[in-house]
Amino acid sequence: MNKKVLILGGGESGCGAAVLAKKKGWNVMLSDAKAIAPARKALLDNLGISYEENGHSKDLLNDCDLIIKSPGIPETAPLIKEAISKNISWEDEIEFAARYASGKTIGITGSNGKTTTTLWTYDIFKRAGLDVGLAGNVGKSWAAQLAEGDKDYWVLELSSFQIDGLRKFAPDVAVLCNITDDHLDRYQYKVENYAKSKLSLLEKQKAGQFAIINADDALTQKYLDRALISSTIFEFSVEKQNTAAKLNADNIEFHLTTNSLIMSIHDLALHGKHNVQNAMAAGIAANLLNIRKEAVRESLQQFEGIPHRLEFVASVHGIEFINDSKATNVNSTWWALESADKPVIWIVGGVDKGNDYSSLVPLVQEKVKSIICLGKENHKILEAFSGVIPTIVETASAKQAVETAYQLGKKGECVLLSPACASFDLFENYEDRGNQFKEAVRSL
Ligand code: ADP
Repeated sequence: MNKKVLILGGGESGCGAAVLAKKKGWNVMLSDAKAIAPARKALLDNLGISYEENGHSKDLLNDCDLIIKSPGIPETAPLIKEAISKNISWEDEIEFAARYASGKTIGITGSNGKTTTTLWTYDIFKRAGLDVGLAGNVGKSWAAQLAEGDKDYWVLELSSFQIDGLRKFAPDVAVLCNITDDHLDRYQYKVENYAKSKLSLLEKQKAGQFAIINADDALTQKYLDRALISSTIFEFSVEKQNTAAKLNADNIEFHLTTNSLIMSIHDLALHGKHNVQNAMAAGIAANLLNIRKEAVRESLQQFEGIPHRLEFVASVHGIEFINDSKATNVNSTWWALESADKPVIWIVGGVDKGNDYSSLVPLVQEKVKSIICLGKENHKILEAFSGVIPTIVETASAKQAVETAYQLGKKGECVLLSPACASFDLFENYEDRGNQFKEAVRSL
């Protein structure tokens, strides 16, 4: 008899895992506590995969050999607790997919910069003409793609929830961009637990594999226990000098091979020091897997960037509009303000995830001219900045925020949407917020 796998969650990763498991001969059952999207149900029906929605039936764990759970389901969920008590092992879609992947893997994690670094790394491999796939926390699930076929290289964006569901799998090259407070609700509100989750990716690696870390990042350096790491560590830095990639005046220097790569930060495709760090991480990863230097240089200079991350929208009568809607925490907004080279009219606000704005005050004093709040509840922003900035205006829609910013702005200034908050109070998600902002700019 075929082994039975129970898949919990009928989203992108769950359905992907179901498709791969079915293809590999497992007896598959998928169960979701909520409704499953019609398109996904049609896919499961087509492949003859059994599923249930809007609740889990009682005998679900009977004869079950393995559970694959969605990263959104915590380990404390009743069904997972019951499975653990019955000695049924569970894992994440990534771990399950890895059973069927033989290409080289690059796994990228961090609090901020994951998507940018992942897509940049992927872009380097593409430009080098290699057979490379992109998966993990971006786009189509890894499992669904593996059901269609393996690749020589896989670039994977890994969230900490996905890392928590790994068992043995560790990527050949692990990149940890940085660690700052985020998602603490899943980690008993302890930054140490969250940091350890990220670092566990490196701790799973074996000798012969590589880890790339940020030498400037305080929490990475604080919680990294080098005695627990068997892979070889390479560091990047915009402040220090003895690292595999470093900044020398305005040049980025990679010192990994005898044939080292040097390029000016002014030639870099994306602006801001945080993007220098992302470029360094992607460049080291490519270098460790022996990618042609020319492909690395070309990508670092020509990578197009991704919407909603410091995305240039338009210049209207000499006022630049920049969409950084993906900045959903204070740290990512810090880097956005840091990168500004013109006086800023700053659009901020949304769902506050326990933000502490104090780290932004010096930058706001230096660079921000006026603040426009775009959120239902703005009192923390008003408290943090009313003594710092004379003009703070509250608005209730992207259109109103953009029009107000335009009235306040002058030629040579920029309007930056970098909210430091989640978007769910006024928008569907950060993409919706960024799109509404862009739409409003275009209709000025
Ligand atoms: P993630 O996938 O980790 O959320 P993204 O690449 O989508 O990261 O970027 C999210 C936000 O963080 C954007 O506002 C972006 O400008 C900013 N950001 C990108 N890279 C970094 C970095 N290395 N450090 C801090 N902020 C960053």
